[in-house]
Amino acid sequence: MINVAIDGPAGAGKSTIAKRAAKDMGYIYVDTGAMFRAMALYMLRLKADLDDSRDIASKADGADIDIVYEDGVQCVMLNGENVNGLIRTEEVSDAASRVAVVKEVRQKMLMLQRNIAKNHDVIMDGRDIGSAVLPDANLKIYLTASVEVRAERRYKENIEKGMESDPEAIKADIRERDERDMTRSEAPLTRVPDAVLIDSSDMTIDEVVKRIEELIGEIG
Ligand code: C5P
Repeated sequence: MINVAIDGPAGAGKSTIAKRAAKDMGYIYVDTGAMFRAMALYMLRLKADLDDSRDIASKADGADIDIVYEDGVQCVMLNGENVNGLIRTEEVSDAASRVAVVKEVRQKMLMLQRNIAKNHDVIMDGRDIGSAVLPDANLKIYLTASVEVRAERRYKENIEKGMESDPEAIKADIRERDERDMTRSEAPLTRVPDAVLIDSSDMTIDEVVKRIEELIGEIG
């Protein structure tokens, strides 16, 4: 199986790019952030204390999270419910990065993610794919962009969706999430030495996809 890992900070364009490249290559795209988002939704519904790791760990077993594909689109299932339409809010983004620090949550996700990669050619994006989930991936990419560019992209996306949006608040949210993702003790976001660095600050989506497809083509 071919396994491609793409890691990087929030808003770097990982999912847009990974989705496109996976489609072109005929691989499965696995958005691991969506799994943490589903777990966050579960915790929000239970009114768990998001700052209390023990509370989250004790509740995590009740969340049965799975990934299924319908017409090539990834659907995240939470206890049998497709939650794709409920996990893209700012509240869930913030909660996801809080539940993601909890060891028991990460272990649960790791098993599921490895299992998918064992059985399929995948492009998997997240924070710890190259470092922890798929350390033997055929290709590892660290995709990043400046915080200004990432905030600007998120702002434009929100405007396109008709959502009210404050550029400074977005920037603050991205900074806070990056900080939490990079400094946690369990599988922090880090650029592993064997990952190819792509800084997309001055690149178009097409250019990044092309670069990644070239790198996939070079897999021996
Ligand atoms: O990528 P996305 O923004 O959807 O991820 C939401 C949150 O889930 C991240 O901020 C991060 O805290 C967590 N996450 C993670 N490990 C992954 C993917 C996401 O910790 N592999």
